[in-house]
Amino acid sequence: MTVKKLKFKTETKQILDLMVHSLYSHKEIFLRELISNASDAIDKAHHESLTNKEILEDDKDWKIKIAVDKDAGTLIVSDNGIGMTKDEVIKELGTIAHSGTKEFLTALQKREVQNNPELIGQFGVGFYSSFMVADKITVISKKAGTDNKEGVKWESSADGSFTVEDVEKEGKGTDVILHLKDEEKKYLEEWEIRNTVKKYSDFIEHPIVMDIEREKESKLDKTKKVKLKEEETLNSRKAIWLKNKSDITETEYNEFYKHISHDFSDPAKVVHYKVEGVSEFTSLLYIPSIRPMDIFYKEYKIGLTLYVKRVKIMDHCEELIPPYLRFIKGMVDSSDLPLNVSREILQNNRQVETIKNSITKKVLDTLSDMKKKEYDKYLKFYGEFGRVLKEGIHFDFSRRETIGELLLFPSTKTDQGKFRTIQDYVDDMKEGQEGIYYITGTSLDESLKSPYLEAFKDKDYEVLIMLDDIDDIIMSQFEFKGKKFKSVIKGDITLDKSEKDEKEKARKKYAKLLDLIRDLLDNDVKEVRLSGRLKDSACCLVADEGEMDPQMEKLLKSMGQDVPERKRILEINPSHPIFESMNKIFEEDRRNKILEEYTELLYDQALLLEGSKPRDSAAFAKAIAKLMVENVQHGK
Ligand code: ADP
Repeated sequence: MTVKKLKFKTETKQILDLMVHSLYSHKEIFLRELISNASDAIDKAHHESLTNKEILEDDKDWKIKIAVDKDAGTLIVSDNGIGMTKDEVIKELGTIAHSGTKEFLTALQKREVQNNPELIGQFGVGFYSSFMVADKITVISKKAGTDNKEGVKWESSADGSFTVEDVEKEGKGTDVILHLKDEEKKYLEEWEIRNTVKKYSDFIEHPIVMDIEREKESKLDKTKKVKLKEEETLNSRKAIWLKNKSDITETEYNEFYKHISHDFSDPAKVVHYKVEGVSEFTSLLYIPSIRPMDIFYKEYKIGLTLYVKRVKIMDHCEELIPPYLRFIKGMVDSSDLPLNVSREILQNNRQVETIKNSITKKVLDTLSDMKKKEYDKYLKFYGEFGRVLKEGIHFDFSRRETIGELLLFPSTKTDQGKFRTIQDYVDDMKEGQEGIYYITGTSLDESLKSPYLEAFKDKDYEVLIMLDDIDDIIMSQFEFKGKKFKSVIKGDITLDKSEKDEKEKARKKYAKLLDLIRDLLDNDVKEVRLSGRLKDSACCLVADEGEMDPQMEKLLKSMGQDVPERKRILEINPSHPIFESMNKIFEEDRRNKILEEYTELLYDQALLLEGSKPRDSAAFAKAIAKLMVENVQHGK
């Protein structure tokens, strides 16, 4: 029999090292992870056995067994689930497939995991967490449906490599044998195992059993006591969603949430409901109170757990919930779907579509209710998940107004920490106001000071402040009750139609000067025009209506994306005295150097106002200093 020695991939090795050497709290979750893997393996075998009778073999008694060997110092978690072939063992236990690994590594290094042990489960490195308590792990596995006794043994001491070899194994399934570290021998004790199972794995549907030794009366001689081993089930296996709502306590609901979500905090809201009629299903949904760290990663596992007639079919069933509600945790137990339902069937299934619609509506209704009746709680929810929910405006056309009603924004008229809904905004719109105005930015304070708001403040128009990176993409195409959204930093703005004539007059007056400025800035801007948005500032830069929001452009650039350079429009405030002065100089001598100098300075100022840097900071500083000197000399 050959023993093959293989090396772990670099990232796996790094994670193992950190697991072994830097995690000290909540070590007991290793057992939850092993039990959860065992339970998944049984679910898979069970599910497969429904269509493939061979898998059942003679073993229908699904269970997870925990055993200890005090002499050897080992804790063994066995299951009679699907098992692994040699190739699978090498692949599944030798590499970490999850591509959020880099983020997890960073979190480990920053010690974030220390305080958020749920990350271990979220990042799919559950199996390795056993190295927190064991210095060596042996896994013996046999794939279900395999004839004879061909099994495989995997072993590692987390020292950069692992070995695999062929071994004989009786039944299908997997034994995970932990050689406990000296200081972790407490996990050999019955009460410690009992407590840990109760705490983290009570809701596992399959029995988690252990042989318990008890002293009993001897049947032969009643005066004597004998030691007897009896298999005992440690978990209560409650399918709580099948119980009546009134029979379930808040603690039970919360514990079940922690069990399915691997979150350590209580959920913000529980939604438990049953649908009967054309479609029959029960659903237990949770709105978490804290945003998981990886919710914006591509790898974030979306979806609810799907059961069919109480048989668990799959975790993370994406077809049951839209991505913009991906923060919802929970499960659905359907009475209509076939037990052998596959991903393909799920994707084009009317029943599944009906369930998804029902759940989406239920969640949105619950949020709306929370907003009305528990506003403070809703604020907290919105702070955690508002950015995710908002994606629905873009992706769920039929519900965009319903979702729109759930959004909250600070505005130029709100006090610190207060928010407006779009409906509030619309109710207070000024007469003749055409659309819903918003400004995008990265900080509330900066946005409030923005020169782009001058005319709006002057006219007492409210402007919503949008601070999420995706806001412009989403809002620029949104229409709420027939009202369009309009960015105050893009496109032409004319707030007051009566100002049109004045603007026309000014345009005529400054036409030639504007041409000169445009010629001078030919390489930098695509147009120079009079502004309807400025009151105090001299000029600003704006993008065309359909173009990308400068905030978004900056964000994409910071993420290293190639963003095509687009020229902006320079808007000039005709009522600013500088243009009167420049115009005078222009009329006297259109070649005067000062015109060129001022134009450059104005453009650099506009860059500063939009949060960019002047093109040449040194030249800019020099020009300002020169102006200061001239000013002083002039004043003398
Ligand atoms: P996760 O369970 O999140 O995928 P783990 O690191 O815990 O991550 O496990 C890696 C993989 O190893 C699992 O996805 C599964 O394919 C396999 N595995 C682990 N334990 C078992 C088991 N008891 N039976 C069968 N396969 C298992």
